[in-house]
Amino acid sequence: MGGQVIIIGGGASGMTAAVMAARGGAAVTVLEHMDRVGKKILSTGNGRCNFTNQDQKPEYYHCGQADFPWRVLEQFPMERTVEFFAELGILAKERNGCLYPNSDQASSVLDALRFELERLQIRVTTGCQVREIRPEGNGFSVRTDQGKLSAGAVVLAAGSKAAPSTGSDGSGYELARGLGHRIVTPLPALVQLRCAEKDYKQLAGVRTDAKIDLYVEMSRAESAADRTKRVPAQGSSVDGSAPDSWRLAASDRGELQLTDYGISGIPVFQVSRYASAALHSKKRVKAVIDFLPRQTQEETMAMLCRRAASMPERTCEQWMCGLLNKKLSLVLLKRAGLKPSECAGCVGESGWAALGRQLRAFETVITAANSFDQAQVCCGGVDTLEVDPATMMSRKGRGLYLAGEILDVDGICGGYNLQWAWSSGAVAGANAARYASAARYVNAASK
Ligand SMILES: Cc1cc2nc3c(=O)[nH]c(=O)nc-3n(C[C@H](O)[C@H](O)[C@H](O)COP(=O)(O)OP(=O)(O)OC[C@H]3O[C@@H](n4cnc5c(N)ncnc54)[C@H](O)[C@@H]3O)c2cc1C
Repeated sequence: MGGQVIIIGGGASGMTAAVMAARGGAAVTVLEHMDRVGKKILSTGNGRCNFTNQDQKPEYYHCGQADFPWRVLEQFPMERTVEFFAELGILAKERNGCLYPNSDQASSVLDALRFELERLQIRVTTGCQVREIRPEGNGFSVRTDQGKLSAGAVVLAAGSKAAPSTGSDGSGYELARGLGHRIVTPLPALVQLRCAEKDYKQLAGVRTDAKIDLYVEMSRAESAADRTKRVPAQGSSVDGSAPDSWRLAASDRGELQLTDYGISGIPVFQVSRYASAALHSKKRVKAVIDFLPRQTQEETMAMLCRRAASMPERTCEQWMCGLLNKKLSLVLLKRAGLKPSECAGCVGESGWAALGRQLRAFETVITAANSFDQAQVCCGGVDTLEVDPATMMSRKGRGLYLAGEILDVDGICGGYNLQWAWSSGAVAGANAARYASAARYVNAASK
């Protein structure tokens, strides 16, 4: 017979921790303040739940301590996750390395977890707000809006501040702070970026293949220290008062979505954490977008010359037909200083060169990341220096474990954040059960 384990938060990491703790012999209670568990899981992967990815590398996970996530993931890797869900009845389906349930329904993943909680007789209390966790004897007392509970071990899996309508309202950070943890400022990540230019109103709804390079302004000191990565500011870039140099912070390629306020889509999500962090530090940020990422510069210039020679009678607007989305073409022509009604045959070399620059290096000023409401995850969270990656036990209090997005760990888009939730939850739950069981014997012996 094991000890008592309380799990705070019935999300992906909390439910995995609960299953592992119960399988380890503990009597487990999950406390969840929403009216049901796993609300966030339902919105993952556009309702289909991209629950992991076959391509796993340490660099896909970001953290203040670079090796921390991988040390946890190695203990419960992707293969173990697939096995875990297969045992719960989930047949996995693969798309470009991303794994989804074959049902294409996120609700199947949640249901499979719920059935396992039931089978293991895990007590789930919903509508229960945890207000405080305190060390007490060899364990903890947990104060909620419904009363006080005690346990030998606690797993804090209360999520971040991202998508608060699903329950992760940031109250987990306050609980961690109350136990002496430091919180690395949480910022929205995997999120859309807002841009300064007015032409976005015209571009709303355009989707196109593109490569995005995100640049962050370098301070004089950084600039001097890192001359190798230095790139010159491009012409009239940004707001006309370009800093000396910019650092390439991140790049990605995929389907770019243009909205009436800026840029969205997976490549934007992938670079967004760097924009959030830089803007938070009051640094200027710009993106350089390549709308023809399949071509070399030489191929683009040759294509422009070829088209110029073969369709001289067309207007510039007609000349762009078939190259890119029409709305986007009009904005690129305008930025290149070409009139849509102008005859293509009359455009000089400098006009084509200007258009070439817009096609391959369209600059845009990033003014903000969208808010936590739109973010899929947060970067920042509980400082991982204060957590042992071998067990997920807090270094601030024995018997306290942390799991999931509450920690300063965020993955790239593609199933990596749920993988982090499953892995950290599994390690935390199994170790919490062991600890609670040992604490129980100590308590019994001291009576
Ligand atoms: C729209 C969207 C799509 C996404 N798609 C994917 C995807 O396809 N693949 C992927 O890998 N990741 C995806 N993610 C990210 C992924 O869902 C999260 O990283 C993951 O669910 C985090 O799990 P968690 O258990 O740490 O936190 P959460 O799932 O947020 O769970 C925390 C739980 O704690 C509860 N709670 C909080 N505070 C308290 C309190 N004080 N008392 C009691 N309960 C509390 C909350 O209500 C919540 O249920 C997506 C996220 C969003 C928003």
